[in-house]
Formats: sequence, C-alpha cells, structure tokens
Amino acid sequence: MNQFIQENSIAIIGVLFFIIFLMMGGMIFILYKLLLANKQVSAPVAPIEPQVVQSTDKFAHIKRPEKIVEKFHCHNHPEQESVGSCLICEDVFCENCLVEHESMHFCRDHFRLFANSKWKQITDVRTTPDTPEEGLFIYNFKRDMWKEKAIPSFVITHYKINVEEDYIESFIQLNVREEDVDELSKELEKFKHLELSH
Ligand SMILES: [Zn+2]
Ligand SMILES: [Zn+2]
Repeated sequence: MNQFIQENSIAIIGVLFFIIFLMMGGMIFILYKLLLANKQVSAPVAPIEPQVVQSTDKFAHIKRPEKIVEKFHCHNHPEQESVGSCLICEDVFCENCLVEHESMHFCRDHFRLFANSKWKQITDVRTTPDTPEEGLFIYNFKRDMWKEKAIPSFVITHYKINVEEDYIESFIQLNVREEDVDELSKELEKFKHLELSH
C-alpha cells in the first residue's frame, strides 16, 4: 500500500487537487447563482417610478376650467364692447359713448347733466384698510336714489396716503345737485341708520 502511494503520489495529489478545484468551482457557481437570485428579488422595486408617472397622467384628461372672461357691451351699441361705466347711471358704454372729464366718466346724457348742474359734496366718509365697508352705505344710497327716484348723484373716492400710519385712507364723497342737497341729506341720514341697524 505504502509502496503504491509512493509510486503514484504525484497522480494522487493531482487527483486531490482536481477534486478540490471542482468543489471550489461548484461553490463559486452556487455563490454566483445566489447573487443573481438576490438581484432578481430586489429588481421589482424599480418599476415604481413609471407607476408614479402614470398616476400623474391619470389627471391629464381632467380639463381645467376655462378662464371666465365676462364681456360687457355698450348700453347703446350691443355689438360694441364697453370700456367703462357712467358715474351717474352706472351703465357701461363703448369708447364713443363714454365721456371722460377730469378722470371721471359719464355717458353723453349724463355728461350734459353734469355740465349743466351745480354739484355739492354732501359726504366725506373716511375709510381705512381696516374699515373698507364704512362707506358702503353711500354707494347703496346713490344707487337707490337713481333707481327709485331718478335723482342723479355720483360718488368720488379721494385717496390720501397716511404717512404716519403707513396706509392709504379713502374718503367717499357723494355729490348731489344743489337743488337736491336738503332732501338727499335727510334721506341719507335715514338710510344710514337703516343700513347700520341691519
Ligand atoms: Zn349715464
Ligand atoms: Zn356705445
């Protein structure tokens, strides 16, 4: 036996090395397969990204509401777009029908009325950014007088920068014809109390 080993020692060592080599090869192969399998397990995480893209596409078919642009047309010329409103009647008019005078606008009829009457300012109600609704009753009163009694009047807003307090205050000034001063002053007082008691 010893003699056999001695005689074939080189061959035996060679066979042993070959077996070790095969085993190592097998282990490397198994390790390689395991690594691949691990990669495949982690692979499904990746497709989340395209799903996110799809979810934003879901909303693509929902149309945004179209911008609502209200167009006003001249009181006298329905085919013409209006450029502004008359201070007295508050109807809107086209370029041709609206008259500008000292940055006030009137329709042609009411510019004539404005030019041919004497006007008197009967209010000077101060409003601030904290109390913007303070002068609202004047606008409501003016509208009421025109609609219910056809008494013309107009409101001018005078702005003043309060430097000390750093805000803009406005003064709501109601202008009425001289002949209406007494009646409208009384009416306005009544109206004010009614509005404020609501
Ligand atoms: Zn007018
Ligand atoms: Zn017009």
